[in-house]
Amino acid sequence: MSATVSADNPPVRRLSDWSDARFGDLADEYDTPLYVIDLERVRENYARLAAAFPDADVHFAAKANTSRAVLETLEVEGASIECASAGETERAFAAGFEGERVHYTAVNPPGIDLDRAVELAADHPGLTVTVGAADTIDRLAERGYDGRLCLRVNPGVGAGHHEKVRTGADAKFGVPYDRAASLLELAADDFDVVGIHAHAGSGISGDDLGNHRELVSRMGELARTIDLDLEFVDVGGGFGVPYHPDDPPLDLESVADATRDALGDLDATLVVEPGRYLVADAGVLLTRVNTVKEAPEATVVGVDAGMTTLVRPALYDSYHHIRSVGADGRAVETTVAGPICESSDTFGTHLLADPTRGDLLAVGNAGAYGYEMASQYNSRPRPAVVVVDGDRTGVAHRRETHADVIATETEVTWE
Ligand code: PLP
Repeated sequence: MSATVSADNPPVRRLSDWSDARFGDLADEYDTPLYVIDLERVRENYARLAAAFPDADVHFAAKANTSRAVLETLEVEGASIECASAGETERAFAAGFEGERVHYTAVNPPGIDLDRAVELAADHPGLTVTVGAADTIDRLAERGYDGRLCLRVNPGVGAGHHEKVRTGADAKFGVPYDRAASLLELAADDFDVVGIHAHAGSGISGDDLGNHRELVSRMGELARTIDLDLEFVDVGGGFGVPYHPDDPPLDLESVADATRDALGDLDATLVVEPGRYLVADAGVLLTRVNTVKEAPEATVVGVDAGMTTLVRPALYDSYHHIRSVGADGRAVETTVAGPICESSDTFGTHLLADPTRGDLLAVGNAGAYGYEMASQYNSRPRPAVVVVDGDRTGVAHRRETHADVIATETEVTWE
């Protein structure tokens, strides 16, 4: 581990902690919109989390950021990984994770995912497949799979920053709690049942610790109830990060204490699977102002990034702090809006210093669910991603072109 918990590793990196000069250079060289991911901050976040949970296995929820450079960094630091699809599982192996450190969580998996997962498990026998329905168990058996299996349980408690990310009590995810024990014991006849899993939702804050505690306690109880030797109990991720500049950082020690307390005595390893906590504040989105419009009801600042670049504000009403890079002058309340022809294509209201066409803006906490959720709606090419590590910079995803946007389109031949 290259970073320790100290003054050099603060619990949060704010947008104001980044270097304006570096932002300016990156935008000049790579153009905008541009994601910037700092690998050193990823290491720091992992080190802090691993130190708070010294007896647990930390699995990075890859869905937050699958850039190869990020995965390789976490692999070297000693993290394990949780993948939400066969595609993510492939990326984990390509980044060097050993099978033992990879969990694939199958949510209503298309057949193609299960086919691939079974092939991958043959090559990497340590791979664990987490299932959330009896049907998925049957479908794995039909494919001849009898390897490591974990059961996703619906704990009946959810947590998180928005109703759309509170998965814990959503029937879509996991088998009902009161059916889990019998299903686990049945599955143990045909598979190597190694663990149980639950995830309350995303964005656990101090206010939501009660729900987290409840989830963990139910999982501990279940593990003690069943007549199986489990290797691990996975209590999910969802550790929140402060998106507002005034929000306090998550008190990781309290979360870790509450988790240990609630789990109780268990002869199985605790697994946590954070996504955003490891990468959110390691990333910033840079975007340029192309339009400044004084409308009667608001000053609108138009930028070259939109909901196709960073969808969280449109999807979850999420707040991402924005500041003007290197600008000073009178702060003006502005609505920052993108180039997509949708009224939800806005990043909200921000105080920006004397907004002027050509200004560079930095959008904070963009390292998690940013590039991952980018789309080509309105035929917009996806942005580029650069990674920085100390003084070094490298391109992790090149900027797409219009040719990329139409690359899969074929001329229809009627039959
Ligand atoms: N684990 C599972 C099963 C999830 O569905 C998610 C997020 O959707 C996570 C972990 C990670 O959540 P977060 O990025 O909020 O930590």
